[in-house]
Formats: sequence, structure tokens, C-alpha cells
Amino acid sequence: MKIKFIGAAREVTGSKHLIATDDGVNILLDCGMFQGKGLETDSMNKNLGFEPKDIDYLVLSHAHIDHAGLIPYIVKNGFEGMIVCTHGTRDLCAIMLADSARIQEHDTHTHNKKRAKEGLPPIEPIYTIKDAERSLGFFVSISYNNKFKINKNVSLVFTETGHILGGAAVNLTIKEGDETKRICYTGDIGRQRNLILRGPQPFPQADYLITESTYGDRLHDHQDDAQKKLLQVVVDTCVKKKGKLIIPSFSVGRTQEVVYSLHLLVNKGWLPKVKVFVDSPLSINATNIMRTHPESFNDDMLEQMEKDTDPFGFNNLIYVRTEDDSKKLNNYDEPCIIISASGMCEAGRIKHHLANSVSNKNNTVLFVGYCAPSTLGAKLKRGDPDVSIFGIRYAVKADIAVLESYSAHGDYNETILYLSCQDKKQLKKIFLVHGEYETQEKYKATMEQNLFTNIEIPEPMQEFSL
Ligand SMILES: [Zn+2]
Repeated sequence: MKIKFIGAAREVTGSKHLIATDDGVNILLDCGMFQGKGLETDSMNKNLGFEPKDIDYLVLSHAHIDHAGLIPYIVKNGFEGMIVCTHGTRDLCAIMLADSARIQEHDTHTHNKKRAKEGLPPIEPIYTIKDAERSLGFFVSISYNNKFKINKNVSLVFTETGHILGGAAVNLTIKEGDETKRICYTGDIGRQRNLILRGPQPFPQADYLITESTYGDRLHDHQDDAQKKLLQVVVDTCVKKKGKLIIPSFSVGRTQEVVYSLHLLVNKGWLPKVKVFVDSPLSINATNIMRTHPESFNDDMLEQMEKDTDPFGFNNLIYVRTEDDSKKLNNYDEPCIIISASGMCEAGRIKHHLANSVSNKNNTVLFVGYCAPSTLGAKLKRGDPDVSIFGIRYAVKADIAVLESYSAHGDYNETILYLSCQDKKQLKKIFLVHGEYETQEKYKATMEQNLFTNIEIPEPMQEFSL
């Protein structure tokens, strides 16, 4: 069989790895969108590097858009196979693909207005909400740790990675003639201790390993410190400065972790009595999906739920769904906490909150996640004295704070610990994907110090025989 690394090769977005067996079965691992590559992004997403109709099975590691975001596009272009994933991934895909389609339609509409002024014909969005809805008909979802036979020669088992709800390593067993080959694709690997989910679980022995390397050169803060730091920022902003605390946050995973952290602080009686607003429809939908998957929660979380059935609800917490209610927050003068999306401040309601608050020194903007270099979030994070929001320049007078320990990816110590469930001698080849090349080189060296061998860093479109 052959494997081709189509996306997330020497970079972090566009995850797509294509396995072609000798008897002609094509299995695509993830179908992610390329993101944040400026003008190139669109053509990179449209030039797939394969024919959608040729894919028999698409197996998903998780629902993040850089791993699943092109599903509606391949469905629109002739895919008729089966999409296999965990229950959590399927449920999240239902809201995330529709949300992504809404963004595509909205951005294209704005772009077409500019084109019309220049006398240019309109262009079509890469996919629409209808395409996103239609793609859900191809999904088959299964539980973790259950062997699923996708045809007479290919079976798979999903194991937990603790990255986001539904996140899974794909453990494939493929029979070719007399030979059986075991391939593990880890997808994205969470931190050893997630606040809500179970951490990454050991996975069956593989012959070939495809694994992420996002933080292959970095160590994170200890997670226990996160709650204390969060409380400190709340007290400094809402009590001492009597201002607003604005938290830009990813809708899936991060928002629920921040809400749950605040909930634990409320239970301890430590959180000042201020209103907490979660202002993002996608975050609200994602939180509702989290509520329906307690089977993925860790023991601490389950124990907590015996005392307190709703981990994502407490007095003073208000979920804001409508646009009108969101606008009302602009005139809310009391100290408060506003959690809104997107995490990198590139889209969504967070931009309105920043425009409204960033020039007031009593406020604080707290970052709890990664921001790609050219985004508004990154500009605020690195301390730019003024920023442009909706084409207007705003002086940055608010305090800027950063809390990195809520990361959804393990650092290199954590990922190496996770991979150490393998008998290293049985691993014939390790492929590093989903990382910047410099980071990957450093990670490769660290892995070699930990006695992993035969490590490759595939280039885009590079193919290997297994
Ligand atoms: Zn991810």
C-alpha cells in the first residue's frame, strides 16, 4: 500500500493523508481545511490533490475545521463513500460544518460586493450550508475501543486522545495478501490532564505511526496554576479596576474549560460576584453537545457532577444567543466577564466587544489560546499600541493577559509520554505531521533521544510505500 501526505505536511493546517491499498481501496485520514495562508488559502483548498469520487472511506480523528472542514466541499464534488468517526466528532461536525459554511457564504457575499464595484462577476462560496447539511448523511459514528470492520480486509479502532470531545487516534489494521499492517494516526494529542475530558489513552501496537508535532519544541505551564491565575486576572480587573474582562476563546473545548474553571471558583466561594456572559451561538451549541457526552468526562469531572449536575451552568452565568442581546452588552456598565469567539479575534462577536472595550484602561483582554501570527489576537497579544477593528484604529489601553495552560495540544514531554505505550522496536516508520518544519526537526531530535527511530518529516504530496 501507499500513503500520501496531502496536507498538514510541514505545516499545521489542511490535515489530509491518503492511504491507497494494493487492492484499490482508498482511505482518507481527515479532510481538513487550510487556514490563514492569505490569498493562497482558497486555491490550496480547492486543489484537493485527489478525486473525491475515488475515496471509499474518510476516517476522522476529530471535528476541528483544520481536520474536517473540507467535508462539504468533497461531498459537493462527488464523494460518495463513508465517513467514519466517533459519536462526539459526528455531533460536533453537525454544528461546526454548518458554522463554517455560514462563514464561507458571508465572506463570499462581502467579497462579491467589492467585485461588483470593480465590474467583476461574482464568485461562489467553496461550499454552502446546504452542502454542509447534505454531508451529514455520509457519517457513520462508532464508540471508542470497539473494533469496526469497514470491509473484509480493513478494520479500525478509535482510542481517546483527550484533545477535544470525540478526539481519537485512528488504529487501522489492513490485510494485504498474507500480510497484516497496523497503522496508527494519532490526530491531535491533548494534554495529559484535561480539565473535563479523559487524558490520552494508550493505543494498540502499530507498525507505522503518523503523529502530530504542533508543540514539538515547547513545554507548557502546569495546569493546576491555571485556575489561580484566572482568579487573579478576574480580581484585578473586576474588583480592583471595576472593569470588564474580555476573554476571546475557541468555541469548542476552550470555552467549556474556562466556564468550568469559573464554576469551580464559584463553588469554592472565591469568584467575585460578577456576571459572566458567554456570547457566541457556536459556543452555546458546543456546550450543549458536551453536556450530552458525560461518557468522555474524566473521574474528577464525574465526581463533581454527582454534587452539581450542570458543570457548565451556575448563578450569574448567562448564555447570550441573539444578536440584540449581544449588542446590549456594549451598554452594560458593571464589571463583568465576557467570553466570546473567535479565539484569534478574526471573526465573530468578539470583534465588537474588543472595539467597545480595548481603549479603556480599566478593562483586560485575556488570551487563553494560540493566535496565528497575522491575526488581531496576535497583534493584541504581542502588545501593539493600536489595532484596526472593522477598519477603525483603536488605541490599546486595556491590560493584555495571557494564560497558555488551557492549550488543547500536549507539549513534547506529554506527547512522548503518550507515544511511549508503544514497543519502539516494532515501529517500522514514524511520520511527523501537523507542525511547522523547524519545530518538527527539533521534535525529531528529542524523539531520537527518547529512542524512537526511523522518523520521517514528509513534504507536501510526498508518497511512501508501506
Ligand atoms: Zn485539533
